[in-house]
Amino acid sequence: MISSVRGTHDIVPGEVGRWQALEAVAREVCRRYGYQEIRTPVLEREELFAKGTGESTDIVQKEMYSFTDKGGERVTMRPEATPSMVRAFVQHSLEQSMATAKLYSLGPMFRYERPQKGRYRQFHQLDVEAFGIAAPSLDAEVIEMAAEFVRALGIERTELLVNSVGCPACRPAFGAALLAALGDQIAELCADCQRRAQTNPLRIFDCKIPKDQPIIDGLPHSVDYLCAECREHFDAVQQALEAYGIDFRVSHRLVRGLDYYTRTTFEILGQGLGSQNAVLGGGRYDNLVKALGGPDRAGIGFAAGLERLVLAMPESAGAAAKVKAFVVSVGEEARLPAQVLARDLRHDGFSVLVDYDGRSLRSQMKRADRADASYVLIVGGDELERGEVTVKDMTTGQQSTVARTALVQRLKPVGDAAG
Ligand code: AMP
Repeated sequence: MISSVRGTHDIVPGEVGRWQALEAVAREVCRRYGYQEIRTPVLEREELFAKGTGESTDIVQKEMYSFTDKGGERVTMRPEATPSMVRAFVQHSLEQSMATAKLYSLGPMFRYERPQKGRYRQFHQLDVEAFGIAAPSLDAEVIEMAAEFVRALGIERTELLVNSVGCPACRPAFGAALLAALGDQIAELCADCQRRAQTNPLRIFDCKIPKDQPIIDGLPHSVDYLCAECREHFDAVQQALEAYGIDFRVSHRLVRGLDYYTRTTFEILGQGLGSQNAVLGGGRYDNLVKALGGPDRAGIGFAAGLERLVLAMPESAGAAAKVKAFVVSVGEEARLPAQVLARDLRHDGFSVLVDYDGRSLRSQMKRADRADASYVLIVGGDELERGEVTVKDMTTGQQSTVARTALVQRLKPVGDAAG
């Protein structure tokens, strides 16, 4: 048997109902907040992420599925959606065709990470991005939307973290303050942190090595180094969140593992998910569109991890819809009429299973039982001639004879127009 690739997973029929429920909520919330769907390719040019996600990030340094294709081109299976969304926004001049360029996408991402509970090499995200608006009221709206999405999934007891990482005007001073505070302790940090100190000191906050944490916890906070504009922006975001009545905590370590963030960053943490407890994260990226060759436009968005949301959703979410009817046939001459009856009812909108190989009534009834159908419809010789079907209600066990012409009405739930 050839098994699936390490770090990937099948979503089997027993689980898919939860995924469909999650995706339906995602689409519905996006619709309510004015976002339109976009579908971009899994494969992109490698340079999109090198430039977009950032050379100093763990994603680009260690985690990308990149290869040379048969035409000699370097391509990458997207590790995150934001650079693709920016590329599409620029490539199709979406600001011309959309009143506000608010986009969302659902799909798989690929990162070569060490698999564990809630962490995969192929995983799925809802990605939400809005372009062209720099005002802090949009930051607050996007954060509120993220919170509403999680709430609409029935996930309770979450925690919202926010931070501001400043802008290119104030960040160098913060980077210098980090290095100054670290001083000789740099030598005690892990090899990755020593590299980060050289390339982008802010990235030291991404470190997960336990031994490094006491040192990192003692480092200065980005919010204490914001320039006047960034300070004002962050204050306005917090005021708006308070006006919405949303609980949040300012987390100084929340710099997020991507290079493009400016000003606001945020994350929502779930419960009972172990160490991989961030269900979604995002922030503002006011320089990314330009850096990727587009016009000078602001951007903000978030990505939500669907695997983790599925884990955090209530037990009852996305229960599979029951099969309406299982058609069994008595005797060879009833087999085709049974198939035709199944076809007709399917065309009428019911979910219907049928027996194919004319086994004994007993074994057909057993199958109907396993299928957990609401009704078993028995098609047999006498009834056929009279234009009738025997209907067994599997909930009550009651059996009755119903005219074929009255069957659709009989199967419909009371007061329901559809099947
Ligand atoms: P990021 O794109 O790293 O900001 O991640 C956004 C969200 O995607 C996280 O909060 C997680 O919920 C999810 N996520 C990121 N990496 C993985 C992974 N390897 N496996 C599963 N979910 C992930």
